[in-house]
Amino acid sequence: MTFFTTDTETIVKPTVEDGDHDRFSHYVKKDEILPSTIEGTPVKALCGKVWVPTRDPKRYPVCPTCKEIMESLSND
Ligand SMILES: [Zn+2]
Repeated sequence: MTFFTTDTETIVKPTVEDGDHDRFSHYVKKDEILPSTIEGTPVKALCGKVWVPTRDPKRYPVCPTCKEIMESLSND
């Protein structure tokens, strides 16, 4: 797995979804990633997207909505 740690306790969680054109890396809060990794529970991205990150992450472009929110948080 590949994680990108940021100053705002948020990471990028690359994900692949079958039959979904929305193939992006989404920003997800660390405190949501941990229980998901352990228990397999869904995570919620900054953009509001919810999914269970079970597949091997690959390189995808960062979700534009997540990126926008992330940048606004960084400027805070
Ligand atoms: Zn997103």
